[in-house]
Amino acid sequence: MILPKANRLTAEQVATLDAIVAEFGCHLQPIEGTVRTIYAIVGDERHELMINRLEGLDFIDRVDRIQSPHKLMDLRSDLATHRITIGGVTLGSRLFVIAGQCTIDPKNPSLFIETAHAVKEAGADALRGGVWKPRTNPYSYQGDDRALDILMEAHRQTGLPVDAEVMDETQLRLALDAGVHTLQVGARNALNYSLLRAIGAAIAGRGNAVLLKRGMHLGPVAEFISAAEYIVSFGNPNILLCPRGTSPTLDGYRNHPDESITPLLKERTWAPVVVDPSHSVGKAAYVPACALAAVAYGADGLCIEAHVNPARGIGDDPKQALSPEVLAKTITRARALWTTLRAPDAPASSPCTA
Ligand code: PEP
Ligand code: MN
Repeated sequence: MILPKANRLTAEQVATLDAIVAEFGCHLQPIEGTVRTIYAIVGDERHELMINRLEGLDFIDRVDRIQSPHKLMDLRSDLATHRITIGGVTLGSRLFVIAGQCTIDPKNPSLFIETAHAVKEAGADALRGGVWKPRTNPYSYQGDDRALDILMEAHRQTGLPVDAEVMDETQLRLALDAGVHTLQVGARNALNYSLLRAIGAAIAGRGNAVLLKRGMHLGPVAEFISAAEYIVSFGNPNILLCPRGTSPTLDGYRNHPDESITPLLKERTWAPVVVDPSHSVGKAAYVPACALAAVAYGADGLCIEAHVNPARGIGDDPKQALSPEVLAKTITRARALWTTLRAPDAPASSPCTA
């Protein structure tokens, strides 16, 4: 829909519009109001260059797209009926919980193995463990290939599917070869389109899923969905959208909590939303409330950092990880809320039933 600056365009201006949209196989349909005339673009209006050229005209106020640019991620796409199953649990059948350490310490493998058993006991559906870490400080611990063996040993012992972040194609290949089930794209790489494409291509035709974190700098919802579209466009639609807080921070928290984006995502896309409260608020004491808020906003899952002994952890774990006891209580409460909100008699204002 083209909205001109003036109430009426000259014949010459209309001819300019006509010529541009015709180049892209579209035509114009004027919609004449009593005061103002606007112009519908009839045809496939997803051509970015066409929109850019129209928006570049000095007599045009703006161009509103009616069609979604997200052919696959859009709520109205054929993929809307797709269900994602990880480790035998189908997203949407219950609150899906991924939990585990921020970082696997290769010097203390038994700690991670204990954490794995503890998060399973607490009710988690999948185990997370950082093998390679995106660290702000280049002198901080960066990860270690040996941690991958520890992660896979924890999978063998617990049966839990495992999630790990990959930041480049070498790590991607190592993770897939080792059998990592869910590949995590971190907030710092959420807009790294080469990596998104490489992951999409590598998992096409396989059963893996991707946990796509939201970019850490506050960006439009559409930008987050577009990042998912990159991966899904290669053929594997197992994508989980993970809000994890944005920057600039809310004073006192690590980031600006963004679980409230969940209903906005659900209005536009079918993909499950798995909120990460840990990186959002950044402190163990605040994590349970943020997790419950995420569920209240309609999240399908949670990704929570937890450690059998947070004080002995590395990376984010000493400040952010929940103890197994707090994790268990948080999961129980979050699942109870999730179930309540989806009950047939839930209040109409519930995000899940509205
Ligand atoms: C993590 O999950 O440990 C992590 C580094 O997350 P993010 O990319 O959201 O900062
Ligand atoms: Mn972390």
